[in-house]
Amino acid sequence: MKLFDLGGKVAVITGGNGGIGLGMASGLAEAGARIVLAGRNAAKARDAIAALGDVASFVPTDVTSRQDCQALMTETVNKLGRLDILINNAGTSVRKRPETFTEEEWHLVLDTNLTGAFWCAQAAYAPMKQAGGGKIINIGSMMSLFGAPYATPYASSKGGIVQMTRALATAWADDNIQVNAVLPGWIDTELTQKARSQVDGLHDSVLRRTPAGRWGKPDDLAGVAVFLAGRGSDFVTGAAIPVDGGFSALC
Ligand code: NDP
Repeated sequence: MKLFDLGGKVAVITGGNGGIGLGMASGLAEAGARIVLAGRNAAKARDAIAALGDVASFVPTDVTSRQDCQALMTETVNKLGRLDILINNAGTSVRKRPETFTEEEWHLVLDTNLTGAFWCAQAAYAPMKQAGGGKIINIGSMMSLFGAPYATPYASSKGGIVQMTRALATAWADDNIQVNAVLPGWIDTELTQKARSQVDGLHDSVLRRTPAGRWGKPDDLAGVAVFLAGRGSDFVTGAAIPVDGGFSALC
């Protein structure tokens, strides 16, 4: 269906070498896009490329480095000729009580989840403008909406992602660049396997609180990524879309 056809498009996905990023990459690849996975772990990227096929490649990137983010977009355009889609998905968390965070831990989470997304969006702007438009998809969280006692920097970064999305959407709408956020519910990935080992009762409380009655899978994010990356969402910008099995709808 042409509304969801990404043939000829080039997508950069930070943290696309695993978890939710790889789930979204598989959707974009199925819709015809060529994919650049950006992250630090090359071994994980090799497995991801084996799963996606020769439409995918890897650019080693640490999103906390502004230079790396700029180099990622430059290398993508040099190798693939254009840049149409950016998914700011790289993310991390440190789970502790707020009174115990060090300066280093605070910056690790904010610099990865929020500032890294901004550096990548900023570096993507010129090539997208040159291509006549583009799509930026920022990955938020249920912590964009809710709080938790162990998640002060994470919730701060994910709340910030939604406001950054709105600000960029208003700034770049007349360049035909749509900027939206996706707010995943609880998805089974390396990040949440660690969370389940650190937060007592998390596995069962998510099951009880999620109307769909299950944890999400990385593939559950593929459809929304294809929608927000394609022509079908050209009048959708500045939105924050939950993909959460109903988690945020339940009072
Ligand atoms: P994973 O840990 O599986 O994936 C996170 C990815 O981010 C990794 O592939 C990692 O790649 C990359 N990454 C981390 N730090 C950096 C960095 N400094 N530079 C470049 N890449 C980096 O977790 P998820 O798939 O669960 O998380 C993906 C996104 O979804 C995150 O933004 C997370 O906050 C968000 N999210 C997850 C939810 C869940 O329930 N799983 C719920 C809501 C939001 P590498 O190791 O190669 O650097």
